[in-house]
Amino acid sequence: MLFKLSLDKLSQTATISFYMDDLLSWLDQGATIITPTTRLAQEIHHFYLQSWSKPRPAPTCVSYTTFIRDIYHTHYTAQNKACFYVLSAHHRRFIWRNILQKSIPQNLNVSLIKEIDETWRHAQQWLIDFNHPDFLLTTQTAQYQQWVQAFTHQLHQINALTFEQMIEHVLAIQNPRLPKQLIWYGFDELTPLQTLLHQFLLKHHTYSWQATPPASQSSTWQCMTKDEYTEREALLVWLKDLRHQGIQPINVVIPDLTQQFAGLKRWFSQHFKEAEFTFFHAQPLDTYPLVAHALHYLKLSKHTLSHHKVNLLVSSPYIKHADVEFLARAEFLQHHALMESPFISFVHLVQELTMHAPLLAEVLQNLTAYPAYASINEWVTLFLERLEQLGFPGEQAFSSVQYQIYQRLQTVFNEFQSLHFLTSKLSFKEAIATLENLIQTTLFQPQTLQTPIQIMSLSEANNGFGQAMWVMNMTDDNVPRKLKPLTFIPFSLQKKYGMPYALIEQELIQAQNMLKRFASFNQQCVFSYAKLTAEKLNLPSPLIRHLPNFIPKPGHKSLQPALETYQETYQYPLTDQKTTKGGTRLLANQAMCPFKAFAAHRLHLSKPKPPIDGLSFAKRGQLMHKAMELIWRTLPNQAALNALSASAITALITQIIERVLAPFKAQKILTDTLYEVEAARLSRLMHAAIIWEKTRPPFKIKALEAQSVIDVGALQLNVRLDRLDVCLTTGKYLIIDYKSTLPTTMPWREIRPKEPQLLLYALLDNRIETLLFAELNAGSFTPKGLCNHGNIDTDITSIKKDENWANLRDTWQQSLTKLAHEFKAGVCRPEPTQSTLCQSCEFKSLCRITT
Ligand code: SF4
Repeated sequence: MLFKLSLDKLSQTATISFYMDDLLSWLDQGATIITPTTRLAQEIHHFYLQSWSKPRPAPTCVSYTTFIRDIYHTHYTAQNKACFYVLSAHHRRFIWRNILQKSIPQNLNVSLIKEIDETWRHAQQWLIDFNHPDFLLTTQTAQYQQWVQAFTHQLHQINALTFEQMIEHVLAIQNPRLPKQLIWYGFDELTPLQTLLHQFLLKHHTYSWQATPPASQSSTWQCMTKDEYTEREALLVWLKDLRHQGIQPINVVIPDLTQQFAGLKRWFSQHFKEAEFTFFHAQPLDTYPLVAHALHYLKLSKHTLSHHKVNLLVSSPYIKHADVEFLARAEFLQHHALMESPFISFVHLVQELTMHAPLLAEVLQNLTAYPAYASINEWVTLFLERLEQLGFPGEQAFSSVQYQIYQRLQTVFNEFQSLHFLTSKLSFKEAIATLENLIQTTLFQPQTLQTPIQIMSLSEANNGFGQAMWVMNMTDDNVPRKLKPLTFIPFSLQKKYGMPYALIEQELIQAQNMLKRFASFNQQCVFSYAKLTAEKLNLPSPLIRHLPNFIPKPGHKSLQPALETYQETYQYPLTDQKTTKGGTRLLANQAMCPFKAFAAHRLHLSKPKPPIDGLSFAKRGQLMHKAMELIWRTLPNQAALNALSASAITALITQIIERVLAPFKAQKILTDTLYEVEAARLSRLMHAAIIWEKTRPPFKIKALEAQSVIDVGALQLNVRLDRLDVCLTTGKYLIIDYKSTLPTTMPWREIRPKEPQLLLYALLDNRIETLLFAELNAGSFTPKGLCNHGNIDTDITSIKKDENWANLRDTWQQSLTKLAHEFKAGVCRPEPTQSTLCQSCEFKSLCRITT
């Protein structure tokens, strides 16, 4: 180990330039190192202990925050004095929240509270005087001044300090206990408050140096690529090459990592094994599913739940018996009629679950309701009890990452409890909002084992050691940072005191220092940028334009996957099933697109129905069918209809409507208003139908909602006929199929009939010579059909002169048989008869067709 710089020989200057060996040597000589972040302190610890072959005592390397807290508490403990309560970030935000709640309740949100608090911390670090007259120049800064007064008043009342105020107390200590030699490591430049601390240390005979990296020893390049895709390709080749050479650790720096995180994570997973890379990217705790579900449970109301909340609850894997009842719960979500409502009563949900997922129903049934008000300590107990009642976190085994998330959530409850001295009683709404706020503002990154590739943002990368580093997106937009002054501090003061994001010269220096550090701590550095991002032309950062060009190597062989040829037959024959679920819909789907029929009737897939206010489209169709069935069960023929007066018909219709809507009223699926709307709709439709029925030639009802099994080719289909009439003049049969919407094209002459049901029924009996679709929609009745020559029903077109009914029936028989054979043979090509069918198809993402 070379001792390049001995601390004893150093004069007490403000900054020192050093090499990594120096850092180790200083720690070995007993110096204390302070760093801006805990992660950097841990990294140096790790680096130190790894650099010696024999075990050594742990070095003194701590974060700046820990260092200050130690001095403060050591002093007050030695003096046996009661010290102030030092507030955590959560305490501060809780106080800010209460202040803002009174001032701007309508605009209150997590990011505003965060911004207000950050501004306070910056103002303290830069010694901003809140009484400065410039605060009165804008509404925002004047408003902020008042908030600060309320905040400091509150601190006095509870005898508490913020971290920055604690530093001021440290500076007033007369005989502090301080280390002899102190190195500020990783600080670009000191804030005014830190400079005061530095001077305080010097005054008390502590050698205090700010360590800056030496001039670069590494190879640095710039790499321009055509677009983002080629930038990633170049990075990939470089990474594979270094991995091949056994070089590690390798740092990959992404300035806008937050925006790119999800996509990049997927991209790295595609090219590297999980043990090869780590993302240093802390995310809000509520973005982890385990925590999001816990929060959802705690917010659960025993009154009414939204469709989304029920979905989340029933599908949650973190609830008791989730594994045992997995299928039953999934079925419930997919098929239960309750899931068509946008809002579901808790009691009704539990009732229905009792039949379908009884274990979940029991858990929900036993949930304890919350009181209206409680203290924070009581809320913690109530919340933990609620989680326990639900069996959170479930029975599944935890991975290491899940376990850490779970542990962090438990810590959040401790932090929540620590707010008890700031408030007395809270309503449920206030308590859950406070807890949620705490969770949302807690950034968390699970710890993983050291990996060869480390991906991080610019702020995380600031002091990272490594063998090699690749920094992406080095455009002039990203480096140096754009000016972004603080909203609540007068801009004049921000410029005067050189606060972050206020002066372009300062941002430039900061960026230069950053690049210098990157080059010093890594043996090779590549700074890349894409010339074109989406439609935007990029320029390189001015700080890399002088660097030599990096020429990416030709693609690594592992990047060139061998092409595989795969022959898709699109044919999976049915084996011995003859009867198949689906009825005539099966043939309709096969006619529209073989894959659609395969997905719906072989794979039995269906999309969950979206929740809807009132009754779903399908339910309304069923109601209409039921109402029409009941009226013709009461009136056996047209004569019976004609014998009724107008008021008797209205009375009959009203009675039928009450009967069909009664179950929905009983189950509270329809509110009073929706009931009225639905009843009026049915009444209009039935009256419109009656008018048409009276104009027809005399008829009698032969069958209503008749079920039968029809053999079609290789299949047996279960079908249900809406209505079969006999014309009393001709003795011929007429089939009626009620529809909410008429088909856009009639099936009579289609090669692949998309609405085959009437054609199929026509094959049942050769006396059937009229086929009719009857549209009941928007208060009107619209019939459309086809009949044999000589049929005297109105509104129905006759077959053409050169057509023959028997021949037509043969053609229908052949086309339907062909469809049935196709289905039986398992023909499942994604081949719609019209491309427009794909627009509303629920299997678009499954068949992967590009239209
Ligand atoms: S999206 Fe088009 S091709 Fe795909 S299954 Fe639906 S109809 Fe067929």
